[in-house]
Formats: sequence, C-alpha cells, structure tokens
Amino acid sequence: MDLSIVVPVYNEEENIQALYDQLTAVLDPLGLTYEIICTDDGSTDRSFEKLKALAERDPRLKVIRFRRNFGQTAGFSAGFDYASGDIVITIDADLQNDPASIPALLEKMAEGYDVVSGWRVNRQDPFLTRRLPSRLANWLISRTTGVPVHDRGCSLRAHRREIVKEMRLYGELHRFIPDIAAWIGARMAEVPVGHRPRRFGKSKYGLGRTVRVILDLITVRFLQGYSTRPIQIFGRWGLIMAFVGFLLGLWLSFEKLVLGHSIGNRPALVLSLLLMLMGVQLVSIGLLGEMIVRTYYEGQKKPIYRIREIVDYSRAQPITTPDAGECESAV
Ligand code: UDP
Ligand code: MG
Repeated sequence: MDLSIVVPVYNEEENIQALYDQLTAVLDPLGLTYEIICTDDGSTDRSFEKLKALAERDPRLKVIRFRRNFGQTAGFSAGFDYASGDIVITIDADLQNDPASIPALLEKMAEGYDVVSGWRVNRQDPFLTRRLPSRLANWLISRTTGVPVHDRGCSLRAHRREIVKEMRLYGELHRFIPDIAAWIGARMAEVPVGHRPRRFGKSKYGLGRTVRVILDLITVRFLQGYSTRPIQIFGRWGLIMAFVGFLLGLWLSFEKLVLGHSIGNRPALVLSLLLMLMGVQLVSIGLLGEMIVRTYYEGQKKPIYRIREIVDYSRAQPITTPDAGECESAV
C-alpha cells in the first residue's frame, strides 16, 4: 500500500460526502494504491452512518468507531496504528484543509523527507481568536523545542510510516507531532497548503486550549531534553541550591561562633535552611526520576536510540531491532 489517509471525524455529517468526493478526485489520478482511514470520535450525529454507507461501496474507505469522544489526538493515534501505507497523510474532515494540496506534500516527500508539514499561508479563520494565538503559540513552541515549524495547527501533513508507528501520543499532543517527529530524528520540511473557511458544522476548539498547550509544551520539552536523565535537570538545580544554602549557613556560623553575633532572628538563616532542604529534595526527585526512567525503558525493552538504517553487509536477512521493527540492511 502506498498511501494511508488518516481523517479524524467528530460530528461532521454534512462534510463527509464532499470529503470523500474531493479526496478520491485528488488521489485516483495519482495512480497509487491507497486507503482512507476515518476515525469516528464518538460522533453524536449521523457521521458514522454516512461513513459506513460509503465504506460498503468502497472498501478503500475504512472506519474506526470510538466508543466515546476521545479527542483528535486519539483519532490520529488510532489511524496511525491501523495504517499500512508507506506514507501516512493526515487531514481534517471539515474540508478546511484542501485535499488538492496532497500532491505537493508527496512531491516534497519524494525529495527524501520523513515528515512534510502543511503551512496554511492563507488561513481562513478569524484573526484575533484563532490566527494570532496560533502564531504566538507556534513561535513560543519553536523557541522552546528548537523545531522551526510555522503551523502546528495544520492537520494536513505527510509522514513516513516508520515515524508515525514510533510515535506515542498522549493527551492532546497531536499539536506537537512535528516536534515529536524531530525528536525521533525525522528529516522535516514544510510546504504551503490551501485552506478554506469551514462551511458546515462547528469548530471544536476555542481559546481555552492556550493553557493546555503551555502545559503540554512543558511536558514535551522535558521529555525531549531529559527523559533519559532526569537527575541532570533536577540534580543540577538541587546542587546549586544546596550549595548556596550551605555557604550562607557557613557565613552565619562564622558570625555566631567567631564574632559572637546572635543569628536567631536573621531571615538569612531561614533562607539558608530552605535552600539546603529544597536542594536535597530536588536531588532526591532526580534520583527517583532515574529509577522511573529505568523501569520505563527496561520494562518495555525500549531502546534509548532511534535507528534510521543499518549497513551490515555480512547479513543477508533484514535485521529486526526491538523497537524500530524491521531495518533493511543494505544488501
Ligand atoms: N475532531 C475530532 N475529535 C475532537 C475534536 C475534533 O476528531 O474531539 C476532528 C474534527 O472533526 C476535525 C478535526 O478534528 O476533522 C479538526 O477539528 P476542528 O475543525 O474543529 O478544529 P479547527 O480547524 O477549528 O482548529
Ligand atoms: Mg477545522
């Protein structure tokens, strides 16, 4: 299978027929084998019935129906797990992403990239409530994770299958897919894609996601930098605090023992004790973190590295690594 199109669907009944028509109109002329995987995320309208009716006539359309609404991240995740295409393309069901941009993504992929993100240069959403916050968020995330992507909110994206199979998405991390992909080691590119106003149905998001995005960003940044060595971040700050507290305490002891001053009423004494205590606690948290990380990686036999390919001319068979699945050896 060449392509898997993954579409999260939540209450989009009026959009489904047009979505199917536009997708097939773009995909058929490409001459590739493909499947369209729609994840019905607990829709309460007739989305599922419509999808099922289409799937009965066209077996290339597959529908995964959730028991309840699990969110867009879960929709992507289920689609990724089920996908068997070499390239996995995600797209929204509301037709705001233009399927006509898919060939442009594929062309870019053919240049050897692992992930090609769409960039809605002509985004058709309100400025103050949607485009401005999104700009700011993307700028902040890029600065924090160091991944220079302009439009994380754009669902229209192409990924090599190995990348999405390695990705584990939790909570609402679908907005960080480019960052997580870069962290796995994907070669990334961006292309401008078409965008249109929503014609039917309602947007499922408002400004309320800002706080959630910031919390997610902290998680992603932490996992990206320190997930295999928590002592390095907690321990460093713990040591610095404990050291400053210790110096302060030393000075106070000197005043008391040598100069004979009374130190019982000095705020510096409280500060010194606080710093030393917090320091010890942070180092301990770092050590606990180290133990948790070991359980996490060893319990699931997860490697702490990601392999792109292995060159080993002594072996004729593909090599299987525990996590990366099959790695073709260059024979
Ligand atoms: N969606 C979903 N589960 C949800 C919310 C949204 O599967 O809980 C789908 C929705 O049907 C659409 C896509 O995710 O296909 C993007 O949602 P929406 O268009 O509301 O987001 P916006 O474009 O306004 O950011
Ligand atoms: Mg939309």
